[in-house]
Amino acid sequence: MKKIEVNKLTKVFGPHPKQGLKLLKDGKKKDEILADTGMTVGVNQASFSVEPGEIFVIMGLSGSGKSTLIRLINRLIEPTDGEVIIDGENITKMDKQSLIETRRKKLGMVFQKFGLLPHRNVLQNVAYGLELQNVSKQEREERAKKTLIDVGLQGYEDSMPSQLSGGMQQRVGLARALTNDPDILLMDEAFSALDPIIRTEMQDELLKLQHRLNKTVLFITHDLDEALKLGDRIAIMKDGQIVQIGTAEQILENPANDYVSQFVKDVDRSKILEASHVMKKPKVLTTDKDGPNMAIRKMEEVGASSIFVVDRDDNFQGLLTIDDAIRSHKEHLPITEMLRDDVHTTAPNTPLDDLIGIAADTKYPIAVVEEGVLCGIISRVSILSGLVLGKEKDNEGATS
Ligand code: ADP
Ligand code: MG
Repeated sequence: MKKIEVNKLTKVFGPHPKQGLKLLKDGKKKDEILADTGMTVGVNQASFSVEPGEIFVIMGLSGSGKSTLIRLINRLIEPTDGEVIIDGENITKMDKQSLIETRRKKLGMVFQKFGLLPHRNVLQNVAYGLELQNVSKQEREERAKKTLIDVGLQGYEDSMPSQLSGGMQQRVGLARALTNDPDILLMDEAFSALDPIIRTEMQDELLKLQHRLNKTVLFITHDLDEALKLGDRIAIMKDGQIVQIGTAEQILENPANDYVSQFVKDVDRSKILEASHVMKKPKVLTTDKDGPNMAIRKMEEVGASSIFVVDRDDNFQGLLTIDDAIRSHKEHLPITEMLRDDVHTTAPNTPLDDLIGIAADTKYPIAVVEEGVLCGIISRVSILSGLVLGKEKDNEGATS
């Protein structure tokens, strides 16, 4: 099941939103509606869905409708039309009490402005939401302490917000959103006010946190680099409409229109894309308990001349070539003694740029390994061809 489903969600600000909606359905543009009626289109028939555990980024210039969209999702703003479904439940139709419950249980929100209570210390700020729910002092402080550890603020419980740097204040903001243990984090330009280095740190932190806690994250930004770095998928907004949804790779490779092309034209693909963006699930794997015959049969099935070997827990063991598999069969040696040790492994967040030398230098696919587990493989051709084709596109751009 999808975690969040948004269908034709629309918000028109003004005295007669339904009339504005009709104009949108007739294909009128945001600026025409403003000129003709004085009403502002916030969000125009936006549809998308978010998978559990996904970081879904909404990117667009200022005024494109991002904040309105995220506030429609938790109904801080009432939609003019369309629906929002979370875990199969229609938020748009909920009565007030169920809406409050759902927000409390499932949704945590982090804003650009931290909005911390200045006269309360860090612990009390983080525990505040639980206090409003009448959770006992002992329990709420225990839970708040735990979340402070999650965001790297252990030891700062007694500090006052004014004593903390912007980055640390935003960590408190994040902890506050996490104390209820919500499945979904809604983050509206949460890092946009931070200095570049702190911002990068927070992005890395969020990725780690997401990985560890497996939250679904809806992240809003006007910054393309941030979108490409964080987003499993990215939706690009313009004038209240979603103009493209895709992975970083899809958007860089196939911009849906001139607007998106303009956005991505200066991006150096090899610097932005990471191993995890281009890796594929291996078509076949064999385990270290399999014999050579099984490995050979699996290679034959997909026409491959080598196969990656993992243990029962998907831990990466090595690569077995067809020649070595045959030798293993003839000489009655276990395949684990035949594994190649000249296979390159890399972490999921390695920039493609760093893999170019390796791809040119090896005969085998590159194994993407995280904490010992094989999470994907990258064929040499996907790196090397991308470079050449990427360059050709740049050249076409230059001459046309
Ligand atoms: P973003 O977050 O992408 O910068 P917003 O969602 O804040 O964009 O705004 C989208 C559009 O809706 C803008 O044209 C903005 O002026 C308009 N808008 C936002 N909130 C209101 C409001 N409360 N009343 C009228 N217009 C609004
Ligand atoms: Mg905004």
